Amino acid sequence: VHYYLDNIERKKHLNAYLEVYAAEALAKADEVDQKLAHGTAGRLAGMVLGLKDVLAYQGHSLQSSSKILTGFKSLFTATAVQRLLDEDAIIIGRQNCDEFAMGASNETSAFGPTLNEADPTRVPGGSSGGSAVAVQADLCLASIGSDTGGSVRQPAAFCGVIGLKPTYSRISRYGLIAYASSFDQIGPITRSVDDAALLLEIMAGADDYDSTASRREVPAYSQLLENESEQKYRIGYISDTLENEGLDSEIRETIQGAIQNLREDGHTVESVDFHYLDYIVPTYYILTTAEASSNLSRFDGVKYGYRSGEATDLLSMYKKSRAEGFGHEVQKRIMLGTFVLSADYYDAYYTKAQKVRRIIKEKTEELLEQFDFLIMPTSPTTAFPLGGNPTDPLAIYLADIFTVQASLAGVPAISVPVGADKQGLPIGMQILTKSFAETKLLAFSKSVT
Ligand code: GLN
Repeated sequence: VHYYLDNIERKKHLNAYLEVYAAEALAKADEVDQKLAHGTAGRLAGMVLGLKDVLAYQGHSLQSSSKILTGFKSLFTATAVQRLLDEDAIIIGRQNCDEFAMGASNETSAFGPTLNEADPTRVPGGSSGGSAVAVQADLCLASIGSDTGGSVRQPAAFCGVIGLKPTYSRISRYGLIAYASSFDQIGPITRSVDDAALLLEIMAGADDYDSTASRREVPAYSQLLENESEQKYRIGYISDTLENEGLDSEIRETIQGAIQNLREDGHTVESVDFHYLDYIVPTYYILTTAEASSNLSRFDGVKYGYRSGEATDLLSMYKKSRAEGFGHEVQKRIMLGTFVLSADYYDAYYTKAQKVRRIIKEKTEELLEQFDFLIMPTSPTTAFPLGGNPTDPLAIYLADIFTVQASLAGVPAISVPVGADKQGLPIGMQILTKSFAETKLLAFSKSVT
């Protein structure tokens, strides 16, 4: 704990943490030392973790990096977090992220962006940017983030670490601030596949507080990583992902190199067609903004956090609290989501997008019947300059093209570091597999890292 607290202090300028629980973490460390001496310590004894500011931890502030939750403290602990604490993990602090997890650069945070340690003039990715930098810069052993459309995987790729989005429903969402409930998943950001496997194993499983959490048995992922290391797999890559015109040429070469290595290792790697790539991003943004507009209606100035001092009556309190409390990106998405759910446009947008989601899911599943894994770049670019986002919001959203497919389909996906460009900026490769096949996914990821 001292080691990480020193690093956090020295690297404060990265702005990875919104709050550090120094005294509490040191006290917990003493407690864990006692347990270790008595042989009663849990499986995460000594693991120092950080939490993205979207996970409830009783008695601690929780803000989703938003002004609208100013002063709010959690009344309970998220199921996933409780399971980590029960195994003696030490929580060292809460980490910066995009406001309500909406973004891909950590720049929508009300607390300013986190900086990428590989080049502090660049973004860390997002929305779990603080969580990825905390692992990259050694400010904790591992972070727990959330991934709706890439928020664990893309910042992991930008920061040269590992990010896992499990199968939808594998980890309970109880105590995770909702962005788009039919997409949201909690996921670990780590330096090693072993750590990702262990954290998943402990967080996953049925939960009476989340009826959508799967009741399937949780395999001992961390014990099974070596079993499949000799396996030879059938791997596919969607040809258009490598031919995509927006793809950085160094990323293309790096992924092609990785494909070559896999072939040399005896795996079969084939190119396949997937004709739905153009529909992925629009479908994702229609459905997630629709769900977000509904989920965020609870922040009304009454029940949580910030209330405008300027209000004169009930309606103006709602309006002013929300106008002052939510940032620009969040307001934009609430408006877009409200529009696609409005009576006159519901069928044209929302119903249509639901149907397209079904097709994308089925077609992705068909490919994953044919292949053990699909591989692709995690992001079309490496970390871009702070403030250098294209001004066109569509261009920003299009950068999510590779991560949102797994989110629409609900299948697990991981980003693993596979190299760096000439400027030393990390490059991530994404690996997708069938729902609930995390054992295989993790074992294979370990063999390629
Ligand atoms: N960049 C995507 C978005 O803004 C993904 C965010 C996420 O996974 N939370 O929606």
